[in-house]
Parts: sequence; structure tokens; C-alpha cells
Amino acid sequence: MADTATEREAVLTAIERVAERMADEKDYLTDLDSAIGDADHGANMNRGFQAVLEKTDGMDDAEPADIVKTVGVTLISEVGGAAGPLYGGSFMSASAELADGLTPETTVAFAEAFLEKVQDRGDAPVGAKTMVDALTPAVHTYKKSIEQDDLEPVEALTKAVDAAERGVNFTTPIRALKGRASYLGWRSVGHQDPGATSTLFMLEAIQETAVSHLGDGDLEADATSPTVPDEEATPEAADGDGTEGSE
Ligand code: ADP
Ligand code: MG
Repeated sequence: MADTATEREAVLTAIERVAERMADEKDYLTDLDSAIGDADHGANMNRGFQAVLEKTDGMDDAEPADIVKTVGVTLISEVGGAAGPLYGGSFMSASAELADGLTPETTVAFAEAFLEKVQDRGDAPVGAKTMVDALTPAVHTYKKSIEQDDLEPVEALTKAVDAAERGVNFTTPIRALKGRASYLGWRSVGHQDPGATSTLFMLEAIQETAVSHLGDGDLEADATSPTVPDEEATPEAADGDGTEGSE
């Protein structure tokens, strides 16, 4: 990204979008948690991000990494249960990876550190019906898209969101092995995991922020107005996947 002020604005906008999404989805997340938990995930996430909004409100001169660290500290202190410390601890410790600003490299490092911390703290493997099931494919897809496929961050994020969505769907037919839902044993089968779902919502909000701040890759795009894709600038192959012909 261009400079610290632009990055700071992107981070603060992402926080606002995540908070807005958590408020919008509060009842939905709580419904999911009432089926296999204790019906508080929506309230937890909403309360946490409303507190984050208050804490980050005055951070107009702060470094992006410090803002993200504040998100973590606030979630840890304001949100009880499993998800608050897991998300909070990850935002807090992974924020250090953004010390040099927001670049493809630092955001990959952030994503990896975030996942690593969730796994350190929660000890849930993929397939235990937790947020790890959405986060793991999202992080791996983001990293591969940046490092191997050489995609722009916005495209990489879009692919990460798709991967997270598949991860969320994957949680429905499996049995919970970690967290409160595991107390239900086989009765947890058939229900979508609330934490994986809130992970998807966070990623979607971040991806939408990236689109509005970076547009189709133009780093100088006006951060205050959503960028409408410029049709003339769209590569001809944009809607193909590189394969020739159809079957
Ligand atoms: P609680 O379960 O304490 O009420 P929440 O309802 O806020 O906390 O969050 C529940 C979500 O936390 C679950 O849907 C699951 O995704 C996630 N979760 C629970 N335990 C773990 C764990 N050990 N590792 C990773 N995620 C977990
Ligand atoms: Mg709960």
C-alpha cells in the first residue's frame, strides 16, 4: 500500500465493516450457537467488536500494527467464552507481523501467525468442527495465491473467502471434537459451526474493504469511494480460468 495513513484508513475501515457485519449477523450466529452450544456467539462477537470500535476510535495517528493489536487486546478483555480469547489472542500476537506495514508478504505472515496462534491456544485440528475449519483453507489459499500464483491481494483474498466458505460448509456434516459443541457428540452432526461462520464473515468484510481500497490493483485508488472495475482495464482472460475450450 501507498503509505501509513492509507494503510491505517484501510485497517480502520476493515474494523468498521467487521463490526457492522457482526451486528447484522448477531442473531444468525446466536441461532447457530443455540443448536450446538450456549447461544452466545452472536452476542459475544457483537459485544467484542462494538468495544473494538470504541477503543480504536481515537487511533487516528496510530500504526496499523498497533490498531490490530488493540483489536486483539479488546477482544480478549471484552469477550468471554472460547472465541474471544482465540480471536483476540491471534489478532494480538499476529499484529507484530504488520510492523512494516501492509504488503502481500506481511499480510501472508499475519494470516499464518493468526492461524498458528488459534491452533496453539485451541488445539483443534482441521475436522473438529471449529473456526479452524474455515481459517485453515483460507490462510493456505491466501498464501498460495500470493506466493505461487502471483495474484493481487484482492484476488487472493477473494479466493481465501471462497475457501473459507467451503470450510464452513464442511463443518455441517461432521461431528464436533472440540469446544462446547463436542459435548453433544454425534448430535452435533448436521449443524453449521458458529465460529467457522464468524471467521467467514470477518474475511468477507476484510475482502470488501480491500476491494474498496485497492480496487482492481490500483494502489493509488481514492480510498473514500468504492472502485468500480474499469471494463477497458479488465484483461480479456479475466473471466476464464486459463483452460482452453469447453467440454
Ligand atoms: P463458547 O463456546 O465458549 O460459548 P463462543 O460461542 O463465542 O464460545 O464460540 C464458539 C466457537 O468457538 C465454536 O463455534 C468454535 O468455532 C470455536 N471454538 C471452540 N473451541 C475451539 C477450539 N478449541 N479451537 C478452535 N475453535 C474453537
Ligand atoms: Mg457459545
